[in-house]
Amino acid sequence: MTETLPVNGEIWQRTLHWQPSETQQASFGRLYQGVLAGNRQANLTRITEPDEFWEKHLWDSLSGLAPWYEPQPPDWLPTVKSVIDIGTGGGFPGLPVAIARPQWHVTLLDSTRKKITFLETLCGQLELANTAFLAERAETAGRDGNHRAQYDLAMVRAVGPASTCAEYALPLLKKSGFAIIFRGQWTDEEEDLFMGALDTLGGELVAISSWETPLTHGIRHCLYVKKIEKTDKEFPRPVGVPAKYPL
Ligand code: SAM
Repeated sequence: MTETLPVNGEIWQRTLHWQPSETQQASFGRLYQGVLAGNRQANLTRITEPDEFWEKHLWDSLSGLAPWYEPQPPDWLPTVKSVIDIGTGGGFPGLPVAIARPQWHVTLLDSTRKKITFLETLCGQLELANTAFLAERAETAGRDGNHRAQYDLAMVRAVGPASTCAEYALPLLKKSGFAIIFRGQWTDEEEDLFMGALDTLGGELVAISSWETPLTHGIRHCLYVKKIEKTDKEFPRPVGVPAKYPL
């Protein structure tokens, strides 16, 4: 595979006030080639064209970090050391975040062992030392003392309805930790339901970002949720229940 990723430095700068260093750009390129190769063994992503990969995997993953890149970061911005990416699949948003933020320690969690084995090998090749791996259901990790209430930041992209994502994420967060829940469209009706779920789980919706993707102008939202109270030990509910019966 000889296709190379675009750099798009001006777009990074305009949208995120940030640009990858040469080393980070090289890591993005190796990540791209690694995911293309991995696609042959594990079904990781349909997104394989260079521009599409750049926009829908790299840019989209890092767009969730937009508040950290703002010239005047919002006062609610948490200090982050430990991150968990829940339902990471082919490593998104976790891997671009681990590359862009080497000082953060990023745990990649997915219930599919094959994907996690692939990511472990890929991170070895990329020499990404700030990553860890968990082949586990989010519901199981959320009840495990080694993971419950251990993370400053949880990210969840494309893993189900927003309240299901919140039920996976909030138990894993330390008090005052944040979840970033990635959405496409976001409606008032969804927000009403989501607010009810957050009340139950001890979360508060602090901010919503909305933007268009820079190349194809797709609609995106990110929900920033703060854990304001300890999550009741009833949550997460048993495996499969949060997805089947969202709060
Ligand atoms: N987050 C990635 C992205 O945005 O490209 C992958 C999204 S993919 C549609 C959903 C992933 O979530 C799959 O890899 C699946 O195995 C994982 N997943 C779904 N439910 C899960 C759960 N309860 N616990 C852990 N992983 C889960």
